[in-house]
Amino acid sequence: LMELTKKLLEIQTILKTVSPSDSGGNDEAQHSSALQLPSIVVIGSQSSGKSSVLEAIVGQEFLPKGTNMVTRRPIELTLVNTPNATEEYGEFPQLGLGRIDDFRHIQRTLHDLNMAVPEDECVSDRPIELRIYSPHVPDLRLVDLPGYIQVVNRKQPPVLRQRIRDLCEGYLRQPNIILAVCAADVDLANSEALKASRRNDPMGTRTIGVITKVDVAEPDMAVHMLTQNDYPLHLGYIGVVCKPVKEKAGRTSHEILLSEAQYFGRHAEFQQPGLQVGVGTLRRKLVRVLEESMRRSLSSLVDAVRSELEETKYQIKVQYNDERVSPESYMAESLDSLKQRFKAFQQQFGKPQLRAEVQRWLESRVMDVCAELYWSNPAVGELSNHVTRSRAAGWLADIRTKAAQVATTAASVLSELLAADTAKEQKGPQLNKASAGEPTGRLSSNGKGKGGSNGQTVSEWGDEDDAYWDHQLDRASALLTKSGVGRWTTQMVVDLLMNNVTSMVDAEPFVHHPETREMVLGFSQAILRNKYHSTVDQVENTIKPFKYEVEVEQHEWAKAQKRSGALIENEIRMCRQALAKLRSTTPKKQLQQAMQFVAMADKRGLDPVAVQVELARRNAEHSTSSSEQPPKPEKPATEPTNQVQPTPGGDSGDGGALDDIGYAQYSPRLLRRAQQAMMMQDRLSILHLRRKALSSSTCSTVENKRFCPEIFLDVVAEKLAYNAVMFINFELLQDFFFQFPRELDSNLYYGKSVQQTRDFATQNPRIGKQLVLLERRARLELVMSRLQDLVRQQVAAEAGGKGR
Ligand code: GDP
Repeated sequence: LMELTKKLLEIQTILKTVSPSDSGGNDEAQHSSALQLPSIVVIGSQSSGKSSVLEAIVGQEFLPKGTNMVTRRPIELTLVNTPNATEEYGEFPQLGLGRIDDFRHIQRTLHDLNMAVPEDECVSDRPIELRIYSPHVPDLRLVDLPGYIQVVNRKQPPVLRQRIRDLCEGYLRQPNIILAVCAADVDLANSEALKASRRNDPMGTRTIGVITKVDVAEPDMAVHMLTQNDYPLHLGYIGVVCKPVKEKAGRTSHEILLSEAQYFGRHAEFQQPGLQVGVGTLRRKLVRVLEESMRRSLSSLVDAVRSELEETKYQIKVQYNDERVSPESYMAESLDSLKQRFKAFQQQFGKPQLRAEVQRWLESRVMDVCAELYWSNPAVGELSNHVTRSRAAGWLADIRTKAAQVATTAASVLSELLAADTAKEQKGPQLNKASAGEPTGRLSSNGKGKGGSNGQTVSEWGDEDDAYWDHQLDRASALLTKSGVGRWTTQMVVDLLMNNVTSMVDAEPFVHHPETREMVLGFSQAILRNKYHSTVDQVENTIKPFKYEVEVEQHEWAKAQKRSGALIENEIRMCRQALAKLRSTTPKKQLQQAMQFVAMADKRGLDPVAVQVELARRNAEHSTSSSEQPPKPEKPATEPTNQVQPTPGGDSGDGGALDDIGYAQYSPRLLRRAQQAMMMQDRLSILHLRRKALSSSTCSTVENKRFCPEIFLDVVAEKLAYNAVMFINFELLQDFFFQFPRELDSNLYYGKSVQQTRDFATQNPRIGKQLVLLERRARLELVMSRLQDLVRQQVAAEAGGKGR
């Protein structure tokens, strides 16, 4: 026994899981009909007894009953004969509910699935798959259709009628077998089932007629229906009775219930040879007809599967160059790539790099502190000159008066100028400048340098000076050591690590896996957060001694002297860049004139913008009274200096000073630039001075540290960096390097279900498509090998048959 139907039905089960070749992503899309195996399609008008016939074949009551269009989706029913089993059960493979032993439950499920189709849609072409396993059923495949034939509801719009019809006609095509159900009490001429059959099977070669309710017709009439030739069908008509028949028992008036077999046995009309009656006969016929149809379809199915397989292989070759991939391999590869990136980062970011980063950060702090406490200190010229034993140049006097404001604002000016052109105008003009930074203690205490009118005057250096500058150095050192080094350096390293992790997961393939990206960032943050506070505390603890005293060895000093020279160089370079940028964006002559104007206002301690406003007001008053010389609005006066008499002493009162400044119109923007340019020039001057001082012999020994704060602070920075790095490296960095790969494994790799791994892989569209193709190929190959086995068996069977 070949059990061809059984084996082909198994194959069809596999074929069902093969995604359609046009891979529109819709799992329920219909397969190309070439991949379909024949089914028995049951049609019949409402109440023709269609459900009763199906249930009689199965031997179970499982179809939903009711008059209100209970079948809205095709039910694809596969019967699987399980010869050695005792129990019967059903299964809805699409729902994944597992086996259902209670057939009332199946009935309810079918009812719910059908009713889920909205009434206004009427029907859905998505089939419900149902498999029934039982020792009492033959291997069969039946389809119960929404009855377009049943449609008697006149309210249904024609569009819907057409939809039902299209749906049914699809199932009535070759190679399916049509089971046309007609009731014995309805004239065959009116049978909707036979009409539909004739439309699709005009020769009547694949239609089986079933006459139901044979008991309601007179036996001779029923026999006539079964044998008539008005509506000929090659496979003939079979009469059935699906309900116990009530009949009078003999001459008594009481009734007895007869089974189908008893009924046919009672009436001699049905004993006629060649007449086909009974559900058993129907079953055997269905099995035989389906098997034959299957056999005929076998070779075309083999061809169809082969061509699908070839096509799939071809696509795998062209699109993916035959690369192998599985969800597991893809996931492993993705993780590996992340680990590789991490390792690469780990290798190029060790203690030395960490140290460089921390030191760079601290050195920028050093520069800030120097600017705040020294370069903006009006006495810095004296400090420098004392070291280089040179007399201050004439311009030093100017610097003295302005130094206080120069350095503090220079930093912001620098960053403003070197940033993208987002320079904003200063807010409102102020007539009197806000007095600049505090550090004029020494000047006010001894009055030295006040006014600075005479640049040639250099004060004598004394103990007082030493004390002042020692104090200044202590302050600077404290500013550096007490500025929250622990917090800032730790935070800097945390940011740096997070930035690197972020860039690792912002690259392929993680752009396709947003949840994974978030997860990696999440656990990275968690590791770092866990360590943050203890690291900060450790660093602060270890640098605590430096808050009170910093001991410097000569060799440390020597190194720092070189480094701080480079740092000053760098500052000078930045100033030059800023100046060059200013000059390149402002016409030279305008800038020069505006600078002269600003210088004049400066000498009088006035804000140039405010002076402009005031001058414009007075000028307007003047011109209204004398109505001559209107202000020139656009062009600045060509030689505004002509109208200005510089006050030699520079000590005259504000009111008088204003009168001395000639009026010319400069835009606030231009004035602002002039101010900026002057600040840059001044800062450059100071930096040059400092450079010279720092490279002097005085600054080459640690004893003279009070003269060389830049060097001293650099030594402090170096020591802070060394100690901070020691703990950050140990507490934070090494810990992170240790934990990250482990977290990665435990979060992403271990304990992932097959489905989760698959979901991950298919998030990447390219891999998703590839997996679909590869699975498709694997399934088709399986189908192919099974089909080939079947063909071989069939050939052998036929040969055996002939030999006999
Ligand atoms: P469907 O609407 O085509 O599915 O028809 P059903 O199977 O629901 O049957 C319609 C009606 O006919 C029901 O009341 C059944 O009890 C009844 N019926 C079905 N088969 C027979 C039969 O062989 N003899 C008799 N007398 N009634 C039957």
